[in-house]
Amino acid sequence: MNGPRLLEPDMSGEGAISCEEAFERLYDFLDGELCATWTEKVRVHIEVCRECYPHFNFERAFLDHIRGLGLGPEAREGLEARVREALREE
Ligand SMILES: [Zn+2]
Repeated sequence: MNGPRLLEPDMSGEGAISCEEAFERLYDFLDGELCATWTEKVRVHIEVCRECYPHFNFERAFLDHIRGLGLGPEAREGLEARVREALREE
């Protein structure tokens, strides 16, 4: 596993976060559980980062899908954990 990659020069402004920081908070972001500051940081990162954008779209589609299945919170957690694990191994 590589360390956090450096941001593109045009993303290095104040408040910019690394891909790792964005990814760590992706689930909380999608669940709307981040504070306003972090929500904005993650949102901006996803908009400008070509690495994270496809990831984000995939996660969002996945979460929408499993929510649509009407699973209980525990089953959802289990599925999310497995996908998260798979993504980390890429
Ligand atoms: Zn990124």
